[in-house]
Amino acid sequence: MKITAKLDQIRKDISVAEKQFHRDQGSVCLLAVSKTRTTDEIITAISAGQRHFGENYCQEAVEKIEEINNPEAIWHFIGPIQSNKTKQIASCFDWVHTIDRIKIARRLDEARSEDKAALNICIQINISGEDSKSGITLDNAEDFINQLEQFKRLRVRGLMALPAPTNDFDEQRAAFSLLNKKLHGLNRNKPELDTLSIGTSQDMEAAIAEGATIVRIGTAIFGARNA
Ligand SMILES: *Cc1c(COP(=O)(O)O)cnc(C)c1O
Repeated sequence: MKITAKLDQIRKDISVAEKQFHRDQGSVCLLAVSKTRTTDEIITAISAGQRHFGENYCQEAVEKIEEINNPEAIWHFIGPIQSNKTKQIASCFDWVHTIDRIKIARRLDEARSEDKAALNICIQINISGEDSKSGITLDNAEDFINQLEQFKRLRVRGLMALPAPTNDFDEQRAAFSLLNKKLHGLNRNKPELDTLSIGTSQDMEAAIAEGATIVRIGTAIFGARNA
């Protein structure tokens, strides 16, 4: 199947899941994860109406963003952030999903230019408690977000996670449910938090069942990655 047909299929799948799990139609944003994909593939997706794209590797992303140079595309950084890349990330991206250190947030805040809107930020949560994974614990999320309030060029939008992969729907849903509950808890004091960035090609339905507002889909749109 071609990219355009796959995008159509994913949009239908999202719409069906929204209905099945009593979500408003159109409440889930499709983020096309385009890491390792060529600019031609991304341009094909843009022509098919796709607007949000997720990238993991700063250097690769910046080159592609500059080459594509299309103001309609909205770029989300979803990879680990090295501090020597914060300037580029702050100037090329609209969203960053992987904030788990104050030092990185400070550098992004300092680098975000005044003539752009504040950089949209999600806090990365380590939901499966794996040592190898980035992210802060659910228990530390509120403190961490409070500390981020000093940064006026950042706009904290919500939570992001990438749980340990499993094919079991109930297990997928259980992990996402913790994040959904946490976001609702945070909303008591912080009603402005409106984003739950959860779900990949493997667990999109479970994520939508548990309140995803952004699903991050790579393989199901562009096919298997070689890298
Ligand atoms: C690669 C990646 C995805 C997309 O995964 P697919 O299985 O290709 O849909 C989503 N989120 C993050 C953080 C990723 O790195």
